[in-house]
Amino acid sequence: MSFALHGVGVSGGIAIGHACLVSHAALEVTYRLVPPERIDGEMLRLDAAFAAVRDELDAMHASIAEGPASAEYGAFLDLHRMILDDPTLSTAAGAHIAQHGCNAEWAVAQQMNVLIAQFEQVEDPYLRERKADVTQVVERVLKALLGHPGHVSVASRRDGDNILVAHDLSPADVIQYRRHRFSAFLTDLGGSTSHTAIIARSLNIPSIVALHHARSLIRDGDLLIVDGTQGVVIIAPDSRALAEYRLRQERLELEKQKLKRLKTTATVTLDGTAVELHANIELPQDVEQARESGAAGIGLFRSEFLFLDRADLPDEDEQFEAYRKVVRKMRGLPVTIRTFDLGADKNLDSSRRVAANPALGLRAIRLSLAEPQMFQVQLRAILRASQHGPIRILIPMLSSAAEIAQTLHQIERAKDGLRHERIPFDEDIEVGGMIEVPAAALCLEVFMRRLDFLSIGTNDLIQYTLAIDRADDSVAHLYDAMHPAVLRLVAHTIRSANRAKVPVTVCGELAGDVSFTRLLLGFGLRIFSMYPAQLLAVKREVLRSDLPGIVPLARKILRSDDPEKIRTLLQRLNG
Ligand code: PEP
Ligand code: MG
Repeated sequence: MSFALHGVGVSGGIAIGHACLVSHAALEVTYRLVPPERIDGEMLRLDAAFAAVRDELDAMHASIAEGPASAEYGAFLDLHRMILDDPTLSTAAGAHIAQHGCNAEWAVAQQMNVLIAQFEQVEDPYLRERKADVTQVVERVLKALLGHPGHVSVASRRDGDNILVAHDLSPADVIQYRRHRFSAFLTDLGGSTSHTAIIARSLNIPSIVALHHARSLIRDGDLLIVDGTQGVVIIAPDSRALAEYRLRQERLELEKQKLKRLKTTATVTLDGTAVELHANIELPQDVEQARESGAAGIGLFRSEFLFLDRADLPDEDEQFEAYRKVVRKMRGLPVTIRTFDLGADKNLDSSRRVAANPALGLRAIRLSLAEPQMFQVQLRAILRASQHGPIRILIPMLSSAAEIAQTLHQIERAKDGLRHERIPFDEDIEVGGMIEVPAAALCLEVFMRRLDFLSIGTNDLIQYTLAIDRADDSVAHLYDAMHPAVLRLVAHTIRSANRAKVPVTVCGELAGDVSFTRLLLGFGLRIFSMYPAQLLAVKREVLRSDLPGIVPLARKILRSDDPEKIRTLLQRLNG
């Protein structure tokens, strides 16, 4: 029987294909009877898996850099090592194999349940919570047994169009799955500006988040229609629905081809105002798409994605190669590299302890300043790459004068080191700050005094202004770019920067939303940076815009605090 599910469409387009379910490794374990003559072999598999995880944890321990967070991280690894060595897990799993003649995966999963039950009996609430660590350790052992490299495993894959269905995906998971070439992503959880959604957009794959029950209602192999623009999935569609959506798919393709003709057209409004459209990228290979879209440069390289989906940190040379590759491929166009914005939903290690409020915790520049060794490696790599083309450094999540001073000091330190070693770099490299915390938007003077340019990160600015977790689907309906407080902070930042003649960009998802193009132009924005697939649609909107007509309406929107009126005025502006 055909039925539909509704969620939040985060990457447009239509896909038709078969469901491919993914789940956590622990849910995947199946029972296998092992004949007596193979029991010893199964024991050896078990021992090898435990030894591999022991090595993995030791290697992680050895790679901890000095810093305030290192003691805590070390303690976390010690705890995992203790759980791994707990006889209830390892020795008892071996005994379980011998006694029941079952496979090692099954034995480990059974012992996990025993250990969790023991933790649940403990009175101390801290210790009781440690059952999550037991699950993480067991996941590692199961991955070693099953040979899965990542956090999730794909239950089945067949030829043709595969649509990935998961309860939740981390940004690292999506990166891992980009090589599988899925034709759509569906998840139960997530928000429209979560980093998982951002990557799906940059892959230009139709995606829907916040579907709530997709993982449990959709069966592996079900035929699906995904409408990423409307946020609708049709399960087991009938032939009429299939014909209708195939037609829509063709129309969308035609539209895309038409837009391609704008690639080399100058980006100028009807009244002759020049506008710059730049591209956001996550990995060096995204540069191809940026170039194809005719971008004026890379306005945001989210460099932290070089750090995800791997157990170790890329060293200076590896980072240098990645940055040099991007700047060379852009052939003289500017590249803005954001220093790593790790933390919150982008953890170096998915099993690392998660703070109670990760988005308010040791994230972005806070983490970089807390881990100066790691920061120095990145700064040196960026500076070295600046010798090969125009590069700017962008600092995420700055909120105070002290942070700006410390950051600039770190950059000077990296420069001094290179000078001392006679390694060339661009002495005049520009350093900019992201405006994504209300405190920054309200104290712009210090930012404009000390930095060369600003970039408004509306995804976080909305999150922190409205106190809405951008990745939490349960509050997704409250995440509102049109909230008067958000619009005022954005407009104020643009106006102040323009007055002070400090270049300002919007690089959050708002920049790629055509329904906001005219409003942002009306606020005075002249530089936009967005995911490449959206660039030509925004260009078409700029070409149709007439500033003298837009500015008075944009001012009117800014004066209003009535959400309904704002929506009506915005429709008029776009009409
Ligand atoms: C933003 O916050 O708007 C932004 C561009 O950065 P990110 O989405 O990577 O947090
Ligand atoms: Mg941000």
